[in-house]
Amino acid sequence: MDIKNYINGNFHEPSSNEWIDNFCPANGEVYGQIPNSSKEDVENAYIAAKSAFPSWSQTTLEERSRILLKISEGIEANLGKLAQAESEDNGKPISLAKAIDIPRASSNFRFFANAITQFASESHESVGMNAINYTLRQPIGVVGCISPWNLPLYLFTWKIAPALAAGNCVVAKPSEVTPMTAYLLGEICNKAGLPKGVLNIVHGLGTTTGQAIIEHPDIKAISFTGGTATGAHIARTAAPMFKKLSLELGGKNPNIIFADCDYDDMLKTTVKSSFANQGQICLCGSRIFVEASIYEKFKTDYVKKVKQLKVGHPSKNDTNIGALVSKPHLEKVMDCIQIAKEENGKVLCGGNRVTVAGFENGYYLEPTVIEVTTDDCRVNQEEIFGPVVTIMPFNTEDDVLQMANKVKYGLSATLWTNDLKRTMRLSNQIHAGIVWVNTWLMRDLRTPFGGMKASGVGREGGFEALRFFTEPKNVCIKY
Ligand code: NAD
Repeated sequence: MDIKNYINGNFHEPSSNEWIDNFCPANGEVYGQIPNSSKEDVENAYIAAKSAFPSWSQTTLEERSRILLKISEGIEANLGKLAQAESEDNGKPISLAKAIDIPRASSNFRFFANAITQFASESHESVGMNAINYTLRQPIGVVGCISPWNLPLYLFTWKIAPALAAGNCVVAKPSEVTPMTAYLLGEICNKAGLPKGVLNIVHGLGTTTGQAIIEHPDIKAISFTGGTATGAHIARTAAPMFKKLSLELGGKNPNIIFADCDYDDMLKTTVKSSFANQGQICLCGSRIFVEASIYEKFKTDYVKKVKQLKVGHPSKNDTNIGALVSKPHLEKVMDCIQIAKEENGKVLCGGNRVTVAGFENGYYLEPTVIEVTTDDCRVNQEEIFGPVVTIMPFNTEDDVLQMANKVKYGLSATLWTNDLKRTMRLSNQIHAGIVWVNTWLMRDLRTPFGGMKASGVGREGGFEALRFFTEPKNVCIKY
């Protein structure tokens, strides 16, 4: 199916008539085309957004909330179709898209539809000065939202929903690798009664369409999720233009397992935190550190469970691991496995491509566990973003803390222990924006979400997102 840009409530072909092939990861075939939108298309999207802004920014919170709730319901009503499209476009098991991705996209709209009705600004009485200050939180205007391919609709809506709730109009670009569900969202927005031009979705390569968004002089804020190198490029371009920037970038997250943990729960969850979505979640725990006293037992039990994971076609209900998102990504992940071997990593299981009968050209890879002896190796320092984890033992809390922090990233960390004081000590000292203790990826949408160091700048989630998408203005009145 060919995809079109959604501008001013209508669907348009790109002005340049340039198209990109859209591949299906499950069989490696081209199954549609997407526009490679030019500067001119982004300008058209901007003009539509700018025209819609005066009215949308003055729409009552109740009305904005009502429309966003309708979009949420529209996503829910199209669960089957959207899950199917997400799975076909991304290679993820349809069961995952149905259970997680699409319901979460719906929750994102529902959450911010409700949050905006509870969002309040501050006032400060200046005692002794006969003055009162109050803070306005005004929408910024036209903002840009750019998202990656790993959780396509989930992350796209995680940006768009708060931007719209706060009264902005949006020019958004999904990843060119997985554009389909963002395309389908346009029709849902129209049916929900979102006024024309409030949301515009342009498709294309990062270097053409994305670049046109970030360097547009009047798109005043950029919310970006993607790779660290892209984030650095966006910062270089947008910071001198004094745009507001929220950057959610890569990770290399530690999963720290102590002997006193609830072992069975830890084991089950660790398999998930390693390989969910083919390991293509920025929050996956790709560096597993295990206390030496249980290391051998863990190694045996974990590898046994990983070997049981079924790699298969994403449409099959018994598939645990679908296809990786693209051929270049599959090749990158396989190169990382090769590097690990060259650095004396021991592959305990996996490491090879999988041929799925009938879909021989699909991008399938075995879930891979590599035993390493040092945390300094490249495979432990660089983001792989695929079904590959490393395991190694540690002796003391200090040792593991040092290793956990010795990467350039700081997105999330997982701790498995029942020792309260240790939990608090480590949680305080780990360089990460999110620490999960005895769980993984449990999300409360009110909490701040984001990373430190090379994992990003700023926080999404709850009121943090609404603060990002508004400009605070203090008004001081003397009486
Ligand atoms: P990417 O950086 O290649 O692309 C992300 C988006 O940016 C895409 O839409 C792309 O077209 C666009 N883009 C690329 N170049 C651009 C440019 N010059 N100007 C504007 N936009 C441009 O990332 P990816 O490969 O799609 O996603 C994987 C990465 O995303 C991983 O590093 C992963 O850790 C990260 N990620 C982070 C989070 C988080 O919340 N921190 C969540 C998911 C994924």
